[in-house]
Amino acid sequence: MASKDDLFFHEVRVLQRRTRCSNFVCAEFVRAYRKLAPNPVERSLKDFDTDAKDAAGSNYIILNGCPECNRHVYLPTEKAMTCPFVKRDGNICGHPRFDTNKKPFEVRILFLLTCFFCLYAIVMFKLFYLLCLFYRLFTSTI
Ligand SMILES: [Zn+2]
Repeated sequence: MASKDDLFFHEVRVLQRRTRCSNFVCAEFVRAYRKLAPNPVERSLKDFDTDAKDAAGSNYIILNGCPECNRHVYLPTEKAMTCPFVKRDGNICGHPRFDTNKKPFEVRILFLLTCFFCLYAIVMFKLFYLLCLFYRLFTSTI
């Protein structure tokens, strides 16, 4: 059974989806509600998001990329601070991963649900391609 706080935060996210407002606007709305409501919510929007994500069983990976060569993607466990990609001329890209504020230059969020769909699509495409090759092989007259 969802608590009253959870229902409130769910409504905030539904409102966000309808109006396409930013996370900042949602947080400001929650802050204003806390000031004025007779029974203000105790949890935070972030706590609700974590619980909702766990309940949905979905997850995501935040990846960093190299904006210089657009060839290297850092794994979440990778400790490299500069891009290790070797260019065709043998030089290493070497572009820094983080800026002076220690924020990554390039961030991509990979949703695993999407990832599984992409893997499925790639496997199906390769199977289709192989079938086409076999079809050509066995139907060629030369
Ligand atoms: Zn690079």
